Amino acid sequence: MIDSRGLQFAYPHSEPLRFADVSVAQGGTLLLRGPSGSGKSTWLALASGLLTPTAGEVEVGGQSVGGLSAAARDAWRARHIGFLPQKLHLSDALSVADNLGLVFFASGLPVDRAAVHRALQLLDIDSLSARKPSQLSGGQAQRVALARALLLRPGVILADEPTASLDDAACAAALDLLRTCAANLNATLVIATHDARVVQALPQASVLGFDARAAVAV
Ligand code: ADP
Ligand code: MG
Repeated sequence: MIDSRGLQFAYPHSEPLRFADVSVAQGGTLLLRGPSGSGKSTWLALASGLLTPTAGEVEVGGQSVGGLSAAARDAWRARHIGFLPQKLHLSDALSVADNLGLVFFASGLPVDRAAVHRALQLLDIDSLSARKPSQLSGGQAQRVALARALLLRPGVILADEPTASLDDAACAAALDLLRTCAANLNATLVIATHDARVVQALPQASVLGFDARAAVAV
């Protein structure tokens, strides 16, 4: 469940970005749709507590994200949010399996090797567990990042431009995978995109429209 009311964020020396209110039931899908620079990634950062709103609030699973202390916020994010970033941020110093293991370190939990194995299996990439990220194709690397995002079984999956560099077949596969994974966890799925293919592929989704001036259309 995600609810936002009067949400705004101002980068230093910039006009505030104002976001339309949105309400998505648990397990629902929301598309953040708009051109580059319209504020989609900023919205995702607010919903995951990476940024604090300058006005208004966003509640995720009943928790007001801006109301958490900085320390509580990191733990909350690790526990509840599965983030698939646009830039995947996989460490090439580590194997695929150890990249996933980092999630446990970041959450202050003992590394659960069996859970890492299960997550890789679920996404059909367990054969890649010993590889370094530089030895993966783009699509494989994205699956690894998705496995990492799903490791702690989050209630919310946030994906930033997950289809931006994919051809049509890979785009359809990536969306299917996101949808299936979200459905398995009954997670709320939020996809930020300027890709018209995503809107076509997910006709049931709610859409939050962002206009080019970073104000909000809906
Ligand atoms: P989108 O994801 O839709 O491309 P962003 O949320 O990344 O849009 O950016 C929204 C606006 O905020 C843009 O005008 C961008 O230039 C500005 N912006 C993004 N990050 C920063 C930052 N760290 N400092 C200042 N301005 C930023
Ligand atoms: Mg963006």
